[in-house]
This record gives sequence, C-alpha cells and structure tokens, in this order.
Amino acid sequence: MDERSDGATGAGQPGAFARAWARAVSGTSYLPMTQAQLEELLQRLTDRLSEALVSEPFDPRVGYQIGAELVEAHVASAEGLGRTVEVVQLRLLRDLGLVAEDVEEDRMARLLASVATGYARALRDRTLDEQESIRRAAMVARAQAERALRESEARFRHQATHDPLTGLPNRTLFTERLAAALDGPGRATDRVGVCFLDLDRFKVVNDSLGHQVGDRLLVSVADRLRLTLGGHLVARLGGDEFVVLVERTTCTDDAVKVAEAALTAVSEPALVDGHELTVSASIGIVERPVAGTSPVDLMRAADSTLHWAKAAGGARWTLFDADRNRQELERWALSAAIPGALERGEFYLDYQPLTSLRDGVVIGAEALVRWRHPEFGELRPDSFIGLAEETGLIVPLGGWVLAEACREAATWSPAGAPAPFVSVNLAVRQVHRPGLVQEVVDVLERTGLPPGRLQLEVTESAMMSAVEEPVRALGVLADLGVRIAIDDFGTGYCNLSYLRDLPVTELKVAGQFVAGLRAPADDPASRTDERILASLVSLAHALELTVTAEGVETEGQAERLRAIGCDTAQGWHFGRPGPAARLLEHPARPA
Ligand code: C2E
Ligand code: CA
Repeated sequence: MDERSDGATGAGQPGAFARAWARAVSGTSYLPMTQAQLEELLQRLTDRLSEALVSEPFDPRVGYQIGAELVEAHVASAEGLGRTVEVVQLRLLRDLGLVAEDVEEDRMARLLASVATGYARALRDRTLDEQESIRRAAMVARAQAERALRESEARFRHQATHDPLTGLPNRTLFTERLAAALDGPGRATDRVGVCFLDLDRFKVVNDSLGHQVGDRLLVSVADRLRLTLGGHLVARLGGDEFVVLVERTTCTDDAVKVAEAALTAVSEPALVDGHELTVSASIGIVERPVAGTSPVDLMRAADSTLHWAKAAGGARWTLFDADRNRQELERWALSAAIPGALERGEFYLDYQPLTSLRDGVVIGAEALVRWRHPEFGELRPDSFIGLAEETGLIVPLGGWVLAEACREAATWSPAGAPAPFVSVNLAVRQVHRPGLVQEVVDVLERTGLPPGRLQLEVTESAMMSAVEEPVRALGVLADLGVRIAIDDFGTGYCNLSYLRDLPVTELKVAGQFVAGLRAPADDPASRTDERILASLVSLAHALELTVTAEGVETEGQAERLRAIGCDTAQGWHFGRPGPAARLLEHPARPA
C-alpha cells in the first residue's frame, strides 16, 4: 500500500493521518465515543480536507463545516483546535502523499483558517445553546418547585385545619369561619347559631371496648353528622366534642332544628367492630344577632349551655339562658373571691351548742362558717360552701375553719363545767386529701387543744369511698382521741352495718327525721318517725355510738328525743348559732 492510498482510503478505513489526528486530539476533551469511532470520523474529515485542497475552484466553506463537525463530535476545546491545526499543518500533505506543488500556494493556510473559524463559531453556538438549555431547565425546575410548594402548602393547610381522625374541619378552621360569620362583610345585621355537641358517656365506650372502637365510633358519628348537616360547617373540637356553625339564622328555631337533626343522626345505632353501639349526645345551643357578640363569648355561652344539657341528664339540647348564666357567673365570682376574702379576714365562725339531753349541759359546739361580704353582707354557708367544694377552694377555707375553731375552743373554760368540744365540718375533698392527718395534728399542737376536744363531722358519702385512704386517715385521728361524727345521717346511704368497721364515735341524725317529732304524739306518721328514730338510737348504742339529733326546735321534740334515749340535741330550742361568748354564758342549762 503506498503512502497516498494509505492516507485516503476509499473504503473509509482510517489511514495513518486520521490515526495521527485521533491521537493528537484524544484527551483534549471528553469524547463520548471509542478511539475507533473517532478515527473513523476523522478519516471522513480527512477525505473532505484532501478533496478541498485540490478541487477547483477552492471552496473554504468545507473548512467551516469540518470545524463545526469537530465541535459537534465533542472535539470541542481550544486545545483540540490547536492540535488539529498542528497535525494538519505538519502531516496532512505528507501523509496523503501530496507535495506542496500539488496544492495551490495559500490553500492550506486558508483551509486551516476556515476550519478554525467554523470551529470557533460552532463552539460559540454550542455554548449559547447550552446556556439556553440551562436557562430553560432552570425555568422548568423553578416552575416545578413552585407547583410542588403550592401543593404542599395546600396539603399543609388542609392538615392544619382538619382533624386527622374524622377528616372534619378542626377547631382552627371552625374559629376562622366563626370569626368570618360574625365579622365578615355584609354580616352586621345577621344572626348566627352555634350547636356545641358532646357525646354522653363516651368514656364508657372507650374504657370498656378500647380506644380503637371509640375512635371508629367517633368516625361514624362524624360521618353521620356531615351527611345530615352537610349544609353547615361541622367541626370536631377534640375528644367527643363537635360543633356546628349555623350561619345566617333567622330565629332561634333554625338552630334548634339543626340540633334536633344532629341528635337524631347521633342516636342511630352504629355497627363498630361487630358491636352495635347506640350513643346519645347533649347539645348546648346559642343563637343570637352577630352584633355585640364575639367568638369567645359565643363559645363560652355554648359551653355552659352544653353543661346544663349534661346536668339535666343528657340526650337533649338546651338553649342558652342569659339569666341563668348570670347567676352562675355570680356564683363563680363569689367562689373566686374566697382566697382574697380569707386574706382580708372576711370569714368568721358562729358556734351552735350541742346539748346533753340527760342533764342539759353544753358538751360541745358546732362551728359554722359565715362570710361578712363587703358587698353582699352576711353570707350563709349554703351560698358558697357548695361551690367552694366544686372548685376545691374548700381546702384552704376548711383549713382556716379548722385552725380558727381549734384556736378559739382552746380558750374556752366555762365555770363549773368541763370545756365543750368543738365540732368542725369537713368537706369530702378535705377528707380525701392526703395531708389531712398531718394538718389536724399540726393544728392541735399549735393551738394546744386536746384531741378529745375536737370533733370532725364528715358525711356518709365521704366515708363511702372506693379508696381506703380516707377511712384510714380518720382511723388514725380517732386513735389520737379525735371524735368522728357522721353528719346528716339518714340522708345518704343510711347503712348501719358498715358503721361497725368505721372509726366513728357519733351519729348526727338529720333534722328532717327530727322534724317528724313536731307533730302531736298521737299522729300516726309522727309515731312512725319516732319508732324509726328509737330503733336507730338503740342500734347506734349497740355499736357504742352516741346520737345527736339535729334541728331540734321545740321542747316537745326534745322531750320525745330524751324519752327514746337520744344523747345530745342541737337546734334553735337549745341555742341558735352565735359567737362563742354567748355559748359560754350558759354552759349548763337545766334540762
Ligand atoms: P349542717 O352541718 O347540717 O349544719 C347545721 C345547719 O342547720 C346550720 O346551718 C344551722 O344554722 C342549721 N340549724 C341549726 N339548728 C336548726 C334548727 O333548729 N332548725 C333549722 N331549720 N336549722 C337549724 P348553716 O349554718 O347555714 O350551715 C349550713 C350547712 O353549711 C351546714 O349544715 C354544713 O353542712 C355547712 N357548713 C357550715 N360551716 C361549714 C364549714 O366550716 N365547713 C363545711 N365543709 N361545711 C360547713
Ligand atoms: Ca354539721
């Protein structure tokens, strides 16, 4: 094979020049092809170069194309161009077996110049293309990111405003919608209704059948509410609490109808995990003009109203009642004022004598708390004790009563008679407090009152506790010598047999039994009451308990109580509650 045929193979096999060219440019940039493919490509270009060198007329455009093709084939670096120019200049003519005279004088230079120009242009175009596609890719990526962001925002917003269990709107969304219903444009003259719904005894389902069944029941209730009340916003506020927003009501009845539909929907039996469950609900309804109300007002009112529905036995709706609400608020305000009143010394104690029916001696006195209220005047315990028990404020108040009663009783020393004991009422909450024993022991120690001169009055219900602790605590106190009386006996469980096991020293028989003794002795009902009292007294005595009759208002009652063997009496007949000084004036009133 001669030099010429070696450099320009008709069959496209790479000749010596194409191979040398390939060697020169390989490694100058990344080439997505094998060495053989590169050689093949360069052989084609070599063929066209050699043709261009000799063809008539000379056409430099061939150079541009070759430059462009090199770039297209990724021989696309300044280095690659340099090596190309070099190898063509040095070897092309020789390798093709051409002599300089065969080629017109300046053709080689012009051809190389056009290769370089084509190469540079193609490289520039490619760079522009790349920049463009990068720009376009960036745009696409940004659009995608924005869409993803919008989607995840929507998802996030849905999650933030819906309850995951039932899929209902949650408190956040409800609050937003309620605010809009009260305050939105064109709403000023609207009316609005809120139905606050809570399942009755849902806790029993949860506790007895498990939380999973409870959850499914909630889902089923939610579905039924949504289906029935679809036109109104139904939200789950948490637990078994749901709320329905009734917008643009024309009158209270609009909201009542919604509540009735909700109660019916809830009361349908639900099949959950093979259990057929029937639940009921209570609903508090508030319906009023939007003017002059706020979301907080509305929800607070709906909440109170719901509690009224519950307190009335559940399975019903109840309508908000402004008067009732005001009374409750006043009661609450009174209760909330207890701590301040304690600090300002607004409470004081009256004492009512406990008189022995045998000899008329005042053997003890019950401490009864009173409140000298700066605004409402003298308040009887009935107006604040109940609420103080509910709120727990009875603990500090009762603590004060105990300390004050012991402090005062320690100073009693009536002439010619043993000092009476002081009898202090203990609320259920106080009896159930773990620190009771210590509190009593501390007070006795501080005041110097002997334990035998303190009596604690507890109700039957305080004793009838599932936990042993209260009874144990009273047992410890009884062992110290403190007297324990059951207050208002007969109004609660009235179970004598359990008294045997309790650390009790005395029964105080409720005034209502004693009231029967006011009627003439030959009245049959009165005779029955007397017989009941008589057997109660003898049973108590068999258990070594003393009996005090409460509410003794007449000499006749006192007489009959004495006759049946009752030990002690308390009541207006023997002395109204009053300051301790009065109690001590006549310690021993002859029977
Ligand atoms: P209670 O323990 O049954 O106290 C007797 C109540 O009957 C007293 O009412 C007393 O004034 C009244 N009373 C006394 N004799 C007669 C009578 O002959 N006829 C009539 N109709 N009533 C009579 P008060 O002082 O209003 O006390 C009411 C209740 O408040 C007490 O009932 C007691 O449960 C409770 N209470 C009073 N002070 C305290 C206290 O310091 N702590 C606790 N936890 N409760 C107290
Ligand atoms: Ca009492």
